Amino acid sequence: MTDRPTFQIVDQLSRIPSGPAVAPGTELLDTRGRALRDLRISVTDRCNFRCIYCMPKGVFGKDYPFLKRPELLSFEEITRLVRLFASHGVRKIRITGGEPLLRRGVENLIAELAAIGGLELTLTTNGVLLPRMAQRLRDAGLDRITVSLDALDEATFRLMNDVDFPVSDVLAGIEAAEKAGFGPLKVNMVVKRGVNDHAILDLARHFRGSGHIVRYIEFMDVGSSNGWRMDDVVPSREVVERISAEFPLESLEANYHGEVAERWRYADGQGEVGVISSVTQAFCSSCTRLRLSTEGRLYTCLFAQQGHDLRSLLRGEADDDRLRAAIATVWHARSDNYSEIRTAETAAARKIEMSYIGG
Ligand code: SAM
Ligand code: SF4
Ligand code: SF4
Repeated sequence: MTDRPTFQIVDQLSRIPSGPAVAPGTELLDTRGRALRDLRISVTDRCNFRCIYCMPKGVFGKDYPFLKRPELLSFEEITRLVRLFASHGVRKIRITGGEPLLRRGVENLIAELAAIGGLELTLTTNGVLLPRMAQRLRDAGLDRITVSLDALDEATFRLMNDVDFPVSDVLAGIEAAEKAGFGPLKVNMVVKRGVNDHAILDLARHFRGSGHIVRYIEFMDVGSSNGWRMDDVVPSREVVERISAEFPLESLEANYHGEVAERWRYADGQGEVGVISSVTQAFCSSCTRLRLSTEGRLYTCLFAQQGHDLRSLLRGEADDDRLRAAIATVWHARSDNYSEIRTAETAAARKIEMSYIGG
């Protein structure tokens, strides 16, 4: 059986120390003055893809020791936590994974979260299960969907997902999401030099004029298994230049403070694209995101080496006040700015895998 590298780190974690009481409604600020606004929740560490930049087949094979069901936070546990996070200023929830649509009954979780009220509910998926799930998710109260798609030609797409899923499955998922009323969608493409960078323009051509927004993401050194090298990164600046050479682009203002994607519009009015420059232009100074892992650990950064165990508190005697204090303790102590200090050495360090922590 394959070793589960991330868990050697996770197992060293201790419980969150008891902090002072924090009243509901208190806005939390970290050591850099950043408020807590977004929560990403990984609902499963499993996936039907083995994307080479995320869950490479050589490492995450069929016999990889994924989490067992009792280890996962239940929907009741997640909902209880989300209520507490909402009382501390969280406004946006992203359901992710692994592949979140593989978590049985995920639409029931969406319905429970929608009943809390005042939250923007979003989900990121590889799209292949959308034909049967999109309408159920819409009916449950999901607001928006982001679909990942790394190429339009069959050979490259299969090379990226490494399990032979055809592009047509994802395109069918996008169509189902549109039909269910989710349009316009965001379509995420991770760009890896020499592997799928020719698809930058393919996606631009395909989605121009559709209303959907393609967002080009720089390949990141998340986890410890994707063999990241700086040479594999195509800087967003180059992505914009390449698209502009065929379809001139003009820069747009951000929609809100802390927006991750830099926005560009087609000069001829055919819509917009985004670039996410996590490697070449760090946006840590406005990072308001916290991550809740599949088994209930809090991570204050995508590149964290350590999480904070909320599940043992949840499953112990902790009341809401104790949980609120624990959340505040974690956020108040947060100082992460990994992307501002990335070096070849930090990139090689062991970090938690993205599929577990939630991308
Ligand atoms: N399985 C779902 C999917 O692929 O959309 C949700 C989870 S996935 C971890 C979330 C996002 O992270 C996807 O858009 C994926 O492309 C992105 N991602 C994963 N590994 C990445 C990496 N090494 N660099 C940049 N983005 C990455
Ligand atoms: Fe699965 Fe998403 Fe990771 Fe690809 S990026 S392996 S679809 S979790
Ligand atoms: Fe936020 Fe960490 Fe990414 Fe910086 S590196 S933007 S702190 S998740």
